[in-house]
Amino acid sequence: MSAFIRRCVVCGAANAGLLPYPAGMQDGVCGQLACLHTVQLQSHAQRSAATQRRMDSVRAVVGGTDPIVLLPSNRRRTTRLPAHRRADFAAHLEAHLDASSDAAGAITAGDETPHELEALSPRETLAVSQGCATCRGFCCQSGGTTAWLTTETLRRVRRNSSFDTAALRAAYLRDLPHRSYRRSCVYHTARGCALTPALRSDTCHQYLCEGASTLVALVRAGADVAHAAATEGSQIARVGRVALPEQAAVAPNPAR
Ligand code: SF4
Ligand code: SF4
Ligand SMILES: [Zn+2]
Repeated sequence: MSAFIRRCVVCGAANAGLLPYPAGMQDGVCGQLACLHTVQLQSHAQRSAATQRRMDSVRAVVGGTDPIVLLPSNRRRTTRLPAHRRADFAAHLEAHLDASSDAAGAITAGDETPHELEALSPRETLAVSQGCATCRGFCCQSGGTTAWLTTETLRRVRRNSSFDTAALRAAYLRDLPHRSYRRSCVYHTARGCALTPALRSDTCHQYLCEGASTLVALVRAGADVAHAAATEGSQIARVGRVALPEQAAVAPNPAR
């Protein structure tokens, strides 16, 4: 019956698919390389067109020729940090504190080679910080009740401080805010990340989204100003001016 005939949306072949027949089609596209390639090109073109439309609407607002950088956007609301989320975080912290310390309280070796974080320059940090403030921490939404903390991060923090396990536990719990974004990282507040920078995870220190990486690239290319636009789908949520002064004497507390 015709109702059950599947046709590839590109080549139209009925019941098309990888051999042996009738292999399934993926999202309505048969397994032929040419069809898969066509769909890939189409979706790339659609993404490029959507990006250009967003760029155009930001340009209409800011004018001029300064670079525009598109960022994601956190649109969540803040709420009182619930006790169960505090407890979940405390349990996560405890497990990794345990793993980072042996019975005598010494830092465990672990499998990984101890490393230090690759730091951005003060100017690059300043640029990223302003972009993240415009975005309001979209990537922090995935921090949940772990804040991305791992045993390796806790080892690094202990290597770089005089904290023992008890002091470290107290420091992490002390920084938990009263209010944070709903269902986001427990430290994610309307004023940025509530966790002391030295205590943040390797992931938090090193992750840069595509837009934030572009801001770093602009600094390295000698730009002195850019417009950061926080977007959600086709909507522009906020636009912020990112000033990149020649010298940034003090690295700010990153906004995320
Ligand atoms: S790196 Fe910054 S700009 Fe990018 S998603 Fe995270 S908070 Fe937003
Ligand atoms: S930067 Fe701060 S708020 Fe964001 S995920 Fe890391 S600890 Fe959480
Ligand atoms: Zn096909």
